[in-house]
Amino acid sequence: MSEVLILVDAVDGKVAKSTGELATFAKAIGKVSAVVFDASLVSQLSAYTIDNVIICNGIDVTKFSPAPVAQALAQLVASKSATAVLITSSSRGKEIAGRLAVATNSGIITDASTIDADLVTTQLVFGGSTTVHAAVTHGTTIATLRSNSIEPTAGSGTPTTEEFTPTISDAAKLGQVISTEPVVKGGRPELTEASIVVSGGRGTNGDFKPVEAFADVLGAAVGASRAATDAGWYPHTHQVGQTGKTVSPQLYVACGISGAIQHRAGMQTSKMIVAINKDSEAPIFELADYGVIGDLFNVLPQATTAIAAKKA
Ligand SMILES: Cc1cc2nc3c(=O)[nH]c(=O)nc-3n(C[C@H](O)[C@H](O)[C@H](O)COP(=O)(O)OP(=O)(O)OC[C@H]3O[C@@H](n4cnc5c(N)ncnc54)[C@H](O)[C@@H]3O)c2cc1C
Repeated sequence: MSEVLILVDAVDGKVAKSTGELATFAKAIGKVSAVVFDASLVSQLSAYTIDNVIICNGIDVTKFSPAPVAQALAQLVASKSATAVLITSSSRGKEIAGRLAVATNSGIITDASTIDADLVTTQLVFGGSTTVHAAVTHGTTIATLRSNSIEPTAGSGTPTTEEFTPTISDAAKLGQVISTEPVVKGGRPELTEASIVVSGGRGTNGDFKPVEAFADVLGAAVGASRAATDAGWYPHTHQVGQTGKTVSPQLYVACGISGAIQHRAGMQTSKMIVAINKDSEAPIFELADYGVIGDLFNVLPQATTAIAAKKA
């Protein structure tokens, strides 16, 4: 049976949902071995379709650039004759994948939204206007997958565990983390992990309070168009789109956003899209499943009150 390695991702000490998504894709391919560098995460991994957990010892990877992780994975690819390695499509994930592909002389596919049992991936390119089906033709398939592309399947048993001590070269330890500063964030979920995202655009005119209040009543993350981030109304880390983050939540609410192709590129794979815009001709309505033609400063407070009342 072919063996697929998935790299476990964690956010604030919790295994990220994206790990469950990788496991779900991997299960269709073969035996799923989750590679973890923090043993304290192991107990959480039975929540997903993982057959085996490989605990990498001997190195605190949080102290280094991604090079040691890539080196450890390359050694595991060789020892397990792995068919594929699946990694979350974050910037760190893509750096690890790139290094791993070089180290194993393998092909790499990044930003895939799916991978099937035959290792064929789907990618949306050119601002989402073109769908590409691609497969690696040399070596092990190294693929990074976008978060929120699939609902994780629940695990049905406790995975086996094994320990592995990689040999990390001095060269791989050259990039060291000197200090870290936690991102100041409120109680809202991470943008790329959230199942609901409420985004504001130029139509907010710089006032994101109604957008945030609506996001909070839904337990959603807040996103923004580039017009809003360039104007300094919201941090660039919240920008959704071609030059921002890619999100694919269950529900995306675009408030005062026209729906430019560069914005669509970051949100059009959302499962349900709701647009609130006072211009009935706004292009976002071509993409939206539901549209509200109206002023967001009227619509959002009413929707927030109605949802809060329903939840009470
Ligand atoms: C190379 C490149 C990369 C880019 N990358 C990105 C990217 O990553 N993300 C991104 O978002 N953009 C990106 N852009 C910019 C993109 O082309 C658009 O300019 C931008 O998305 C517009 O943002 P917007 O929809 O908020 O503003 P606008 O296009 O100005 O639209 C504002 C909308 O708000 C509506 N509105 C106004 N007032 C209200 C109100 N009170 N209530 C309800 N509706 C109201 C208007 O009817 C209008 O439809 C990029 C552009 C380039 C060239």
